[in-house]
Amino acid sequence: MDAKTKYGLVVLAEELGELQKEVFKAIRFGLYDVNPKTGQTNVDAMRDEFCDVVGAMEFLDKEDAMVNLVDIIDYQAVQNKVVKIEHYYKYSQERGWD
Ligand SMILES: [Mg+2]
Repeated sequence: MDAKTKYGLVVLAEELGELQKEVFKAIRFGLYDVNPKTGQTNVDAMRDEFCDVVGAMEFLDKEDAMVNLVDIIDYQAVQNKVVKIEHYYKYSQERGWD
């Protein structure tokens, strides 16, 4: 792996962490709670961090033609994930999720 690709992977990991942080803020304070420091809602912050994640993925796609993180999105796999989440949401409700 070359240094630039490794750098892109580090940025991707950092951005995933930033997205995770915003998701936890939305869980703690609500999707539409406004951060008084930025004036942004938590959902807007999540969108921004998601764009940062995709940007890091596109950087990696440009660096290594074999990577293809963004260029080839498997929408069937995306839909399968939505179905799986719905399935496990129902199961978690049965187990006491509010
Ligand atoms: Mg970011």
